[in-house]
Amino acid sequence: MSTIQRVSVIGAGTMGAGIAQVLAHSGCAVKLIDIKEDLVKKGIAGIGASLDRMVKKELISAEQKQETLGRVRAETRLEGVIGSEMVIEAINENLDLKTRVWKEAAVHAGETAILATNTSSISITTLAATIPGPKRFIGMHFMNPVPVMKLVEVIRGLETDDATTTTTMELCRGLGKTPVEVNDYPGFVSNRILMPMINEAVYCVMEGVAAKEAIDEVMKLGMAHPMGPLALADLIGLDVCLSIMEVLHRDLGDSKYRPCPLLRKMVSAGRLGKKSGRGFYEYAS
Ligand code: NAD
Repeated sequence: MSTIQRVSVIGAGTMGAGIAQVLAHSGCAVKLIDIKEDLVKKGIAGIGASLDRMVKKELISAEQKQETLGRVRAETRLEGVIGSEMVIEAINENLDLKTRVWKEAAVHAGETAILATNTSSISITTLAATIPGPKRFIGMHFMNPVPVMKLVEVIRGLETDDATTTTTMELCRGLGKTPVEVNDYPGFVSNRILMPMINEAVYCVMEGVAAKEAIDEVMKLGMAHPMGPLALADLIGLDVCLSIMEVLHRDLGDSKYRPCPLLRKMVSAGRLGKKSGRGFYEYAS
């Protein structure tokens, strides 16, 4: 049983809402913070819809749904983190933005709170160096969709201490997840391996190696992947995929991580995948 009971989640998008949901479902009091009220409301509506699906599948009762929603409080200011034992940040994958938010949130959170980022690729050590008390800073990389996926990649920065790691691993287990501890290198383990595969699939589309459906089918049927790399890219968000490839390319300095020009073009056009209604595939709203 985790000792953590009060958690703030910064960012109410795809990941932040999912993280808030699993925390609230496990009994934690959650403050969900975004820059505008309508964004937090959208996040909470998403949690409601996800819980409705669980009720329909008889995984939880209607009463449990209401109890879970009742544990999530909407906030629009970073001061909202005051009083939380842990702060989990899930804002956009951008180093400058994350640095700015952490500088402010770490001060409000106080010295004893554990500070965790859900970054997919940004250096934990670099982010930790910008805040007071880097030993309590850690990477907590949930997978998408958070309520469904078992893995949390727990990433130790250079300064992260054992107590922070142990408490974070315990919290993950309390959420019904399986934490796996890794060290801080660009992309960690998950995206160091996954993103170059997705990027290569986009090159296959660009070069006309096969139709997008065919590429996904090869990887599903031939490699026993539950979904194809292009459908997965749409689910993750093409902007997120591009940001991660840029981090791998810049920080590892190897041309094999060069983001595919077609990926860049699609992001420039606003074809971000499922969240924008169109990526490699089209989605009804
Ligand atoms: P998203 O675009 O869906 O949501 C980001 C949210 O952060 C938005 O609602 C935005 O308004 C909010 N935000 C931006 N600045 C803020 C601020 N100053 N204060 C409060 N909120 C702010 O992004 P996402 O897909 O949820 O990704 C969030 C993080 O999780 C990223 O670091 C990403 O790399 C990581 N991640 C994403 C996935 C995925 O599949 N999408 C998987 C694992 C990890």
